Amino acid sequence: MIEVKNLTKIYEDKNKQSFKALDNVSFTLPNTGMVFILGKSGSGKSTLLNMLGGLDKITSGEIVADGNAFSNFKQEDYDNYRNTYIGFVFQDFCLIDNLTVYQNIELALQIKRENNPNLIFKTLENVGLQGFEKRYPKELSGGQKQRVAIARALVKRPKLILADEPTGNLDSKTSTQILKIFKRVSKENLVVIVSHNREDAENYADKIIEIEDGKIIRNVIRNKDYNNNFVINDNVICLPDRKLTVDELSKLNEKIKENPVTITSTVDKFVEQPQTQLDSRKVTFDNKNMSTASLIKMSYNF
Ligand code: ADP
Ligand code: MG
Repeated sequence: MIEVKNLTKIYEDKNKQSFKALDNVSFTLPNTGMVFILGKSGSGKSTLLNMLGGLDKITSGEIVADGNAFSNFKQEDYDNYRNTYIGFVFQDFCLIDNLTVYQNIELALQIKRENNPNLIFKTLENVGLQGFEKRYPKELSGGQKQRVAIARALVKRPKLILADEPTGNLDSKTSTQILKIFKRVSKENLVVIVSHNREDAENYADKIIEIEDGKIIRNVIRNKDYNNNFVINDNVICLPDRKLTVDELSKLNEKIKENPVTITSTVDKFVEQPQTQLDSRKVTFDNKNMSTASLIKMSYNF
Protein backbone atom coordinates (compact mmCIF):
# COMPACT_ATOMS: atom_id res chain seq x y z
CA MET A 1 0.00 0.00 0.00
CA ILE A 2 1.16 3.50 -0.80
CA GLU A 3 0.31 6.57 1.20
CA VAL A 4 0.83 10.05 -0.17
CA LYS A 5 0.60 12.70 2.53
CA ASN A 6 0.41 16.45 1.90
CA LEU A 7 2.69 16.17 -1.09
CA THR A 8 3.81 19.46 -2.59
CA LYS A 9 6.20 19.98 -5.48
CA ILE A 10 7.59 23.38 -6.30
CA TYR A 11 9.76 23.82 -9.38
CA GLU A 12 12.17 26.70 -9.55
CA ASP A 13 13.43 27.99 -12.87
CA LYS A 14 16.73 29.71 -13.67
CA ASN A 15 15.32 33.11 -12.72
CA LYS A 16 14.30 31.78 -9.28
CA GLN A 17 10.65 31.97 -10.30
CA SER A 18 8.84 29.21 -8.44
CA PHE A 19 5.90 27.18 -9.69
CA LYS A 20 3.73 24.90 -7.56
CA ALA A 21 3.11 21.81 -9.72
CA LEU A 22 1.58 19.79 -6.85
CA ASP A 23 -0.26 21.45 -4.01
CA ASN A 24 -0.80 19.52 -0.77
CA VAL A 25 -1.91 16.26 -2.36
CA SER A 26 -2.97 13.31 -0.15
CA PHE A 27 -4.33 9.90 -1.09
CA THR A 28 -3.71 6.18 -0.66
CA LEU A 29 -3.20 3.48 -3.26
CA PRO A 30 -4.19 -0.16 -2.78
CA ASN A 31 -1.91 -3.18 -3.45
CA THR A 32 -3.59 -4.21 -6.68
CA GLY A 33 -5.91 -2.68 -9.25
CA MET A 34 -5.87 -0.09 -11.99
CA VAL A 35 -5.64 3.53 -10.88
CA PHE A 36 -5.99 6.40 -13.33
CA ILE A 37 -4.47 9.78 -12.60
CA LEU A 38 -6.65 11.90 -14.80
CA GLY A 39 -6.20 15.54 -15.75
CA LYS A 40 -5.58 18.06 -18.50
CA SER A 41 -2.14 18.79 -19.86
CA GLY A 42 -0.06 20.72 -17.31
CA SER A 43 -2.22 19.70 -14.34
CA GLY A 44 0.70 17.92 -12.61
CA LYS A 45 0.09 14.28 -13.54
CA SER A 46 3.63 13.44 -14.65
CA THR A 47 5.03 15.31 -11.68
CA LEU A 48 2.95 13.13 -9.38
CA LEU A 49 3.92 9.92 -11.19
CA ASN A 50 7.61 10.84 -11.07
CA MET A 51 7.35 11.46 -7.33
CA LEU A 52 5.67 8.07 -6.83
CA GLY A 53 8.49 6.52 -8.83
CA GLY A 54 11.19 8.20 -6.77
CA LEU A 55 12.42 9.99 -9.90
CA ASP A 56 12.12 13.52 -8.59
CA LYS A 57 12.75 15.26 -5.27
CA ILE A 58 9.80 15.97 -2.97
CA THR A 59 9.51 19.62 -1.90
CA SER A 60 7.35 18.85 1.14
CA GLY A 61 5.10 16.07 2.35
CA GLU A 62 5.71 12.35 2.40
CA ILE A 63 5.27 9.16 0.40
CA VAL A 64 5.24 5.82 2.26
CA ALA A 65 5.51 2.65 0.16
CA ASP A 66 4.72 -0.54 2.12
CA GLY A 67 5.90 1.08 5.33
CA ASN A 68 9.03 2.64 3.79
CA ALA A 69 8.98 6.42 4.17
CA PHE A 70 10.75 8.32 1.37
CA SER A 71 11.95 10.86 3.94
CA ASN A 72 14.18 8.09 5.36
CA PHE A 73 15.53 7.04 1.95
CA LYS A 74 19.21 7.41 1.12
CA GLN A 75 20.26 7.50 -2.53
CA GLU A 76 20.77 3.72 -2.60
CA ASP A 77 17.27 3.17 -1.17
CA TYR A 78 15.85 5.18 -4.07
CA ASP A 79 17.90 3.04 -6.48
CA ASN A 80 16.59 -0.18 -4.89
CA TYR A 81 13.03 1.09 -4.88
CA ARG A 82 13.14 2.12 -8.56
CA ASN A 83 14.95 -0.98 -9.73
CA THR A 84 13.01 -3.66 -7.89
CA TYR A 85 9.68 -2.25 -6.74
CA ILE A 86 8.67 -0.22 -9.79
CA GLY A 87 8.21 -0.84 -13.51
CA PHE A 88 8.03 2.27 -15.67
CA VAL A 89 6.22 2.59 -19.01
CA PHE A 90 6.39 5.83 -20.99
CA GLN A 91 4.42 7.41 -23.83
CA ASP A 92 7.38 7.25 -26.21
CA PHE A 93 8.33 3.67 -25.23
CA CYS A 94 11.98 4.55 -24.38
CA LEU A 95 13.44 1.40 -25.94
CA ILE A 96 17.13 1.24 -26.83
CA ASP A 97 17.23 1.27 -30.65
CA ASN A 98 20.40 -0.78 -31.16
CA LEU A 99 19.30 -3.59 -28.83
CA THR A 100 16.92 -6.36 -29.88
CA VAL A 101 13.58 -6.89 -28.17
CA TYR A 102 15.17 -9.65 -26.09
CA GLN A 103 18.14 -7.49 -25.10
CA ASN A 104 15.91 -4.55 -24.17
CA ILE A 105 14.07 -6.77 -21.72
CA GLU A 106 17.23 -8.53 -20.55
CA LEU A 107 18.67 -5.16 -19.55
CA ALA A 108 15.95 -4.74 -16.91
CA LEU A 109 16.92 -8.10 -15.40
CA GLN A 110 20.64 -7.32 -15.54
CA ILE A 111 19.95 -4.29 -13.39
CA LYS A 112 18.60 -6.71 -10.77
CA ARG A 113 21.66 -8.94 -11.36
CA GLU A 114 19.41 -11.71 -12.67
CA ASN A 115 19.77 -13.96 -15.68
CA ASN A 116 16.58 -15.77 -16.63
CA PRO A 117 15.98 -16.37 -20.36
CA ASN A 118 12.88 -18.47 -19.60
CA LEU A 119 11.30 -15.60 -17.76
CA ILE A 120 12.06 -13.26 -20.69
CA PHE A 121 10.38 -15.64 -23.16
CA LYS A 122 7.43 -16.12 -20.82
CA THR A 123 7.01 -12.38 -20.38
CA LEU A 124 7.13 -11.82 -24.15
CA GLU A 125 4.42 -14.42 -24.54
CA ASN A 126 2.43 -12.72 -21.81
CA VAL A 127 2.26 -9.51 -23.88
CA GLY A 128 1.57 -11.40 -27.13
CA LEU A 129 5.06 -11.00 -28.63
CA GLN A 130 6.35 -14.55 -28.82
CA GLY A 131 8.73 -14.91 -31.76
CA PHE A 132 9.64 -11.19 -31.77
CA GLU A 133 12.76 -11.52 -29.60
CA LYS A 134 15.30 -10.95 -32.41
CA ARG A 135 13.60 -7.86 -33.86
CA TYR A 136 14.92 -4.35 -33.36
CA PRO A 137 12.60 -1.54 -32.19
CA LYS A 138 12.58 0.03 -35.68
CA GLU A 139 11.05 -3.21 -37.01
CA LEU A 140 8.02 -2.89 -34.70
CA SER A 141 4.74 -0.97 -34.78
CA GLY A 142 3.95 1.53 -32.01
CA GLY A 143 1.71 -0.96 -30.24
CA GLN A 144 4.38 -3.66 -30.43
CA LYS A 145 7.00 -1.25 -29.06
CA GLN A 146 4.74 -0.47 -26.14
CA ARG A 147 4.26 -4.21 -25.51
CA VAL A 148 8.05 -4.58 -25.33
CA ALA A 149 8.16 -1.68 -22.88
CA ILE A 150 5.48 -3.38 -20.78
CA ALA A 151 7.39 -6.68 -20.91
CA ARG A 152 10.53 -4.83 -19.82
CA ALA A 153 8.60 -3.43 -16.84
CA LEU A 154 6.94 -6.76 -15.98
CA VAL A 155 10.06 -8.91 -16.18
CA LYS A 156 11.31 -7.30 -12.98
CA ARG A 157 8.16 -8.59 -11.24
CA PRO A 158 7.56 -5.15 -9.71
CA LYS A 159 4.79 -4.48 -7.22
CA LEU A 160 3.91 -1.22 -8.91
CA ILE A 161 3.68 -0.33 -12.61
CA LEU A 162 3.78 3.40 -13.38
CA ALA A 163 2.69 4.33 -16.89
CA ASP A 164 2.78 7.91 -18.17
CA GLU A 165 0.28 8.36 -21.05
CA PRO A 166 1.13 4.83 -22.31
CA THR A 167 -1.40 5.05 -25.14
CA GLY A 168 -0.68 8.69 -26.03
CA ASN A 169 1.10 7.77 -29.27
CA LEU A 170 -1.23 4.92 -30.28
CA ASP A 171 -4.43 4.66 -32.32
CA SER A 172 -7.61 3.76 -30.46
CA LYS A 173 -7.66 0.07 -31.42
CA THR A 174 -4.04 -0.43 -30.31
CA SER A 175 -4.72 1.62 -27.17
CA THR A 176 -7.51 -0.76 -26.22
CA GLN A 177 -5.14 -3.74 -26.59
CA ILE A 178 -2.55 -2.07 -24.37
CA LEU A 179 -5.12 -1.10 -21.73
CA LYS A 180 -6.40 -4.68 -21.68
CA ILE A 181 -2.87 -5.95 -20.97
CA PHE A 182 -2.59 -3.46 -18.09
CA LYS A 183 -6.02 -4.51 -16.83
CA ARG A 184 -4.89 -8.14 -16.73
CA VAL A 185 -1.65 -7.19 -14.95
CA SER A 186 -3.67 -5.15 -12.42
CA LYS A 187 -5.33 -8.28 -11.04
CA GLU A 188 -2.04 -9.05 -9.29
CA ASN A 189 -0.17 -5.74 -9.28
CA LEU A 190 -0.93 -2.11 -8.81
CA VAL A 191 -0.99 -0.29 -12.16
CA VAL A 192 -1.04 3.51 -12.08
CA ILE A 193 -1.81 5.13 -15.42
CA VAL A 194 -1.50 8.83 -16.15
CA SER A 195 -4.01 9.87 -18.78
CA HIS A 196 -6.03 12.80 -20.08
CA ASN A 197 -8.59 10.40 -21.56
CA ARG A 198 -11.71 10.40 -19.40
CA GLU A 199 -13.40 7.65 -21.39
CA ASP A 200 -10.46 5.26 -20.87
CA ALA A 201 -10.50 6.07 -17.16
CA GLU A 202 -14.25 5.42 -16.88
CA ASN A 203 -13.91 2.17 -18.82
CA TYR A 204 -10.85 0.67 -17.15
CA ALA A 205 -10.16 2.31 -13.78
CA ASP A 206 -10.85 0.75 -10.41
CA LYS A 207 -9.95 4.12 -8.96
CA ILE A 208 -9.68 7.61 -10.45
CA ILE A 209 -7.67 10.46 -8.97
CA GLU A 210 -8.41 13.57 -10.95
CA ILE A 211 -6.12 16.56 -10.66
CA GLU A 212 -6.38 20.16 -11.76
CA ASP A 213 -3.70 22.81 -11.22
CA GLY A 214 -1.79 20.48 -8.91
CA LYS A 215 -4.77 19.77 -6.63
CA ILE A 216 -6.98 16.69 -6.32
CA ILE A 217 -10.50 17.54 -7.42
CA ARG A 218 -11.90 14.00 -7.39
CA ASN A 219 -10.84 10.76 -5.69
CA VAL A 220 -13.28 7.94 -6.44
CA ILE A 221 -13.39 4.16 -6.63
CA ARG A 222 -15.52 2.01 -8.89
CA ASN A 223 -18.87 1.31 -7.31
CA LYS A 224 -19.39 -2.42 -6.85
CA ASP A 225 -23.15 -1.86 -6.71
CA TYR A 226 -23.20 -0.18 -10.08
CA ASN A 227 -25.47 -1.82 -12.56
CA ASN A 228 -26.50 -0.54 -15.89
CA ASN A 229 -29.92 -2.10 -15.87
CA PHE A 230 -33.17 -0.62 -17.00
CA VAL A 231 -35.55 -1.24 -14.10
CA ILE A 232 -39.26 -0.55 -13.72
CA ASN A 233 -40.30 -0.98 -10.13
CA ASP A 234 -43.85 0.07 -9.29
CA ASN A 235 -43.84 3.70 -10.34
CA VAL A 236 -40.11 4.25 -10.24
CA ILE A 237 -38.16 3.87 -13.47
CA CYS A 238 -34.38 3.54 -13.32
CA LEU A 239 -32.61 4.61 -16.51
CA PRO A 240 -29.25 3.12 -17.49
CA ASP A 241 -26.23 5.06 -18.67
CA ARG A 242 -26.61 3.90 -22.28
CA LYS A 243 -29.03 3.87 -25.22
CA LEU A 244 -32.23 1.99 -24.44
CA THR A 245 -33.13 -1.09 -26.48
CA VAL A 246 -36.32 -1.08 -28.56
CA ASP A 247 -37.95 -3.35 -26.02
CA GLU A 248 -36.95 -1.13 -23.11
CA LEU A 249 -38.22 1.95 -24.92
CA SER A 250 -41.62 0.46 -25.54
CA LYS A 251 -41.87 -0.61 -21.87
CA LEU A 252 -40.87 2.91 -20.86
CA ASN A 253 -43.46 4.49 -23.15
CA GLU A 254 -46.14 2.17 -21.90
CA LYS A 255 -45.26 2.96 -18.30
CA ILE A 256 -45.24 6.75 -18.67
CA LYS A 257 -48.73 6.61 -20.16
CA GLU A 258 -49.79 5.59 -16.64
CA ASN A 259 -49.49 8.39 -14.12
CA PRO A 260 -47.65 9.23 -11.94
CA VAL A 261 -44.14 7.88 -12.52
CA THR A 262 -40.74 8.89 -11.13
CA ILE A 263 -37.67 8.54 -13.30
CA THR A 264 -34.29 8.14 -11.59
CA SER A 265 -30.83 7.53 -12.97
CA THR A 266 -28.74 4.45 -12.25
CA VAL A 267 -26.44 4.08 -9.27
CA ASP A 268 -23.19 6.03 -9.76
CA LYS A 269 -20.45 4.22 -11.62
CA PHE A 270 -17.83 5.62 -9.21
CA VAL A 271 -18.15 6.64 -5.56
CA GLU A 272 -16.04 8.77 -3.23
CA GLN A 273 -12.99 6.96 -1.91
CA PRO A 274 -13.80 6.08 1.72
CA GLN A 275 -11.21 6.65 4.46
CA THR A 276 -8.66 3.87 3.94
CA GLN A 277 -7.43 1.69 6.79
CA LEU A 278 -3.64 1.95 6.70
CA ASP A 279 -1.55 -1.18 6.58
CA SER A 280 1.41 -0.82 8.94
CA ARG A 281 3.39 -3.86 7.74
CA LYS A 282 6.77 -2.89 6.35
CA VAL A 283 8.12 -4.62 3.27
CA THR A 284 11.85 -4.33 2.63
CA PHE A 285 13.22 -3.75 -0.83
CA ASP A 286 15.61 -6.09 -2.52
CA ASN A 287 19.05 -4.46 -2.53
CA LYS A 288 21.18 -6.68 -4.71
CA ASN A 289 20.65 -4.48 -7.76
CA MET A 290 23.21 -2.25 -9.41
CA SER A 291 24.06 1.22 -8.21
CA THR A 292 23.16 4.21 -10.35
CA ALA A 293 26.84 4.63 -11.18
CA SER A 294 27.20 1.14 -12.68
CA LEU A 295 23.90 1.63 -14.49
CA ILE A 296 25.15 4.80 -16.15
CA LYS A 297 28.38 2.99 -17.04
CA MET A 298 26.37 0.16 -18.53
CA SER A 299 24.22 2.47 -20.62
CA TYR A 300 27.40 4.12 -21.99
CA ASN A 301 28.47 0.72 -23.24
CA PHE A 302 25.38 0.63 -25.43
P1 ADP B 1 1.05 16.97 -16.94
O1 ADP B 1 1.83 15.71 -16.92
O2 ADP B 1 -0.25 16.89 -16.21
O3 ADP B 1 0.87 17.49 -18.31
P2 ADP B 1 3.36 18.06 -15.55
O4 ADP B 1 3.36 17.32 -14.27
O5 ADP B 1 4.33 17.65 -16.57
O6 ADP B 1 1.87 18.09 -16.14
O7 ADP B 1 3.61 19.59 -15.26
C1 ADP B 1 2.84 20.32 -14.31
C2 ADP B 1 3.30 21.75 -14.32
O8 ADP B 1 4.62 21.83 -13.82
C3 ADP B 1 3.32 22.38 -15.70
O9 ADP B 1 2.88 23.70 -15.62
C4 ADP B 1 4.79 22.32 -16.09
O10 ADP B 1 5.12 23.39 -16.93
C5 ADP B 1 5.48 22.44 -14.74
N1 ADP B 1 6.76 21.72 -14.76
C6 ADP B 1 6.92 20.39 -14.99
N2 ADP B 1 8.23 20.04 -14.91
C7 ADP B 1 8.90 21.18 -14.64
C8 ADP B 1 10.29 21.50 -14.42
N3 ADP B 1 11.24 20.55 -14.47
N4 ADP B 1 10.61 22.79 -14.17
C9 ADP B 1 9.65 23.74 -14.09
N5 ADP B 1 8.33 23.53 -14.26
C10 ADP B 1 7.95 22.26 -14.53
MG1 MG C 1 2.64 14.62 -18.49
